[in-house]
Amino acid sequence: MAVTLDREALAGTARAAAVGLAALDVRVVALTWVDNAGVTRAKAIPLDRLAGAAAWGVGMSTVHDVFLVDDSITESEHIGGPVGDLRLHPDLDALTVLAAQPGWAWAPVDRWTQNGEAYVADQRQFAKRAVERAKDAGITMRMAFEIEWYLGNEDGTPAAAGPAYGMTRLIEVSQYAQDVLTALTAQGVPVEQFHPEYAGGQFEISVSHTDPVGAADMVVLVRETIRAVSLAHGWRASFAPVPVAGKVGNGLHLHFSAWSGDGNLFSGGLGPYGMTGRGESILAGILERMPALIGLTAPSVSSRLRRVPQRWAGAYQCWGLENREAALRFIAGVKGAGPGAANAELKCCDASANPYLVVGAVAAVAAASAFAELRLPAEYQLDPSTLDGFTRPPLLPTGVEEALTALAGDEVLCDALGKELLNAHIAVHRAEAELFATRTDDEIAEAVRWKY
Ligand code: GLU
Ligand code: MG
Repeated sequence: MAVTLDREALAGTARAAAVGLAALDVRVVALTWVDNAGVTRAKAIPLDRLAGAAAWGVGMSTVHDVFLVDDSITESEHIGGPVGDLRLHPDLDALTVLAAQPGWAWAPVDRWTQNGEAYVADQRQFAKRAVERAKDAGITMRMAFEIEWYLGNEDGTPAAAGPAYGMTRLIEVSQYAQDVLTALTAQGVPVEQFHPEYAGGQFEISVSHTDPVGAADMVVLVRETIRAVSLAHGWRASFAPVPVAGKVGNGLHLHFSAWSGDGNLFSGGLGPYGMTGRGESILAGILERMPALIGLTAPSVSSRLRRVPQRWAGAYQCWGLENREAALRFIAGVKGAGPGAANAELKCCDASANPYLVVGAVAAVAAASAFAELRLPAEYQLDPSTLDGFTRPPLLPTGVEEALTALAGDEVLCDALGKELLNAHIAVHRAEAELFATRTDDEIAEAVRWKY
């Protein structure tokens, strides 16, 4: 059934929301979407335009779908050039007052055509469709992203010198850390933990799982909040796959579980570590399709710099219980913690990915695999790099082109994305590969450091 806009109802809801926001001294609303290069783009409106924007949208060119990370523009078979306009419609359910930007609120947008149709190449609506299709097939997904970032100075040097996971590093950024957590909590983000990560100046926040589109929205909100607090402290935040070449990078690991009614399909069954048949089949589908999936989850040139063995970055196409070197890590949960704890972590995912494409792709593969009775291959219970060439699992494609070719050949993902979105996404990452073809790793890292 085609989705339609009820303009009158949207305007009414927005008017009521605006009254509440005005009472909180909000003057401006930022409207964001994430493009195919993984960059969060935005338009802002004065608060008194919110009702108009909800009902009629805010204008925006179609060309943003072929923007590259350096803001140069390519073109694809269906999208490109200066002609054409879309309407950005804020999702009022996600409207949030920004605690780190006084006077501002934020909402993610869905993009519609001027004829009042859902735009075919809109990433957020692709995610919604994929999640709905999975639900129609009896599979409900829960998801959460882990957000890693590098806190640095303008010149790229780290903001803190303390050791990996070290209390010293937390003390160095004590007020900053408190400000990040206070802002996120005020915005209703369910933070589970915050820690100093492995690489110099690196930090991580984990949040609770929610519905897939909500998880992607949360990535945008958390990242922009961290960015704002970092700038207020005189630092900059980089979510780039590799902020400093040659060092451990930033992941954007996706935790997910699949449910049927009240039952977690990764728990209470007779398969490996209690997976049900459908749960195992979903994970087998994800594992098998990983070379194509990374065309969406780790699609850029800098993704290749990050996905290096022995950096816990999901370089190998294999799975294992609690194996941090496997691209698919299974987490059975603490004994006695209940069936909700079991989940899987997709580690071959970084911030050059569009989070809406990631959640939609995983939901599409889950729906296509759940009833296919696929079985997982043997798991790996050690570091694959320590094995010889005969027993080592395959490395995921390291070239951008290999991953994009695998994506273009994957029927399930192509069908879910639709040709307009697929072609634009592929065109962007091919053009980026060309853009960076002759650059060194250092130059690539520096060029994109503050873009994601
Ligand atoms: N920073 C690592 C990455 O690039 C992940 C470390 C971890 O497992 O949390 O994915
Ligand atoms: Mg981490």
